[in-house]
Amino acid sequence: MSGSPSPDALVVGAGIVGAACAWELARAGVRVSVLEAGLPGGGATAAGMGHVVVLDDNEPEFRLAKLSHELWSALAPELPAGAEFTRPGTLWVAADGEELDAAARRAAAYDSRGVAAELLDARQLAEAEPELRDGLAGGLLVRDDAVVYPPCVVPWLLDGARRAGAQVDAGRRVAAIEGRAVRCADGGRREAAWVVLATGAWAPELVPGLPVRRRKGHLVVTDRYPGFVRHQLVELGYLKSAHGTGSESVAFNVQPRPSGQLLVGSSRQLGVDDDAIDHRLLSRMLRRALEYLPGLARRHALRAWTGFRAATPDGQPLIGPWPGHDGLLLATGHEGLGITTAFGTAWLVADMVLGRPSPLPREPYLPARLAGSAP
Ligand SMILES: Cc1cc2nc3c(=O)[nH]c(=O)nc-3n(C[C@H](O)[C@H](O)[C@H](O)COP(=O)(O)OP(=O)(O)OC[C@H]3O[C@@H](n4cnc5c(N)ncnc54)[C@H](O)[C@@H]3O)c2cc1C
Repeated sequence: MSGSPSPDALVVGAGIVGAACAWELARAGVRVSVLEAGLPGGGATAAGMGHVVVLDDNEPEFRLAKLSHELWSALAPELPAGAEFTRPGTLWVAADGEELDAAARRAAAYDSRGVAAELLDARQLAEAEPELRDGLAGGLLVRDDAVVYPPCVVPWLLDGARRAGAQVDAGRRVAAIEGRAVRCADGGRREAAWVVLATGAWAPELVPGLPVRRRKGHLVVTDRYPGFVRHQLVELGYLKSAHGTGSESVAFNVQPRPSGQLLVGSSRQLGVDDDAIDHRLLSRMLRRALEYLPGLARRHALRAWTGFRAATPDGQPLIGPWPGHDGLLLATGHEGLGITTAFGTAWLVADMVLGRPSPLPREPYLPARLAGSAP
């Protein structure tokens, strides 16, 4: 390191969020170094489902997801084929009249804010997805929602950042953040005007007291069944499980991959650090999926895995300065939406580094709102 000028920004962690930050900063002319402990994209990013979804449970979530969805869409033509960016749309499934009423309210809200959404009755739902069980009330189709294979996007972003002058060090663990510098586990020390902490669920290891908890999830991938389902299918109750504060939940969430494989989720567990498959919870998750898609019982599962979402107490990510730590910008706490919101996050981080105005209000994501919260 001696003799070389300090980079303007050190990005710690190269999951989808850190890679997007490095890419955005480098393209904006910032000198960037990325330090990644393991394989870039090998954390939650590799464990995730890759659903790029404009969630609308609350205004900050909607705004960041919508901006990010627009950024993904703008980038889609440039992404490598391996990123498998497609737009199956999301079909939110209503099990009963009450859920269909909620779907109608969401359809109107999406529509008024420029997101194409359509309410389906029971017959239209059955036509759209013949494998769904009989007796469902209808659905909400959000046509432009996409799916992507994030582990392929991360190296592509890092290559783009490198071409714009960034240095990427994979296999380099950061042991401590010391003001506007980091100390690496191998003893090296690097300084920068800004340290961007993008270590996902590991963030509290470097900033003790950060209100980020690990929220474990399971996913299953099946063999290839092209056409078995056509949209990303999610039960309307999913938002309750994603935003709930309970220690454990499952929800029906199935994604058709371009290969014809199906990803089957989802589960959430707080307070569990062990990454082993929890067979009891996995069975519960699969039973939930079978309640909606009985034909899944005749399909072969190939593999199951787990990953850890970085959960914050209020469900919003932490993007921006952490009080008491000059030069530190957080980019973590994206829970189950970090694939979707990586680009909006990167944009906000670049705005902060460059002193630019942002396209959406920053306040809901500023970490200061949670300073003093117990982890
Ligand atoms: C089961 C599951 C399903 C999901 N499905 C979706 C979905 O469909 N859509 C969606 O939008 N989101 C989804 N998510 C959430 C999404 O995967 C995460 O929000 C996102 O990947 C977070 O990215 P990240 O870059 O912040 O974290 P990570 O991908 O975890 O990256 C953090 C990186 O930091 C590195 N690191 C850690 N400590 C250090 C250190 N000390 N020094 C250097 N490097 C370090 C790690 O090695 C890792 O590579 C899902 C998550 C799970 C678990």
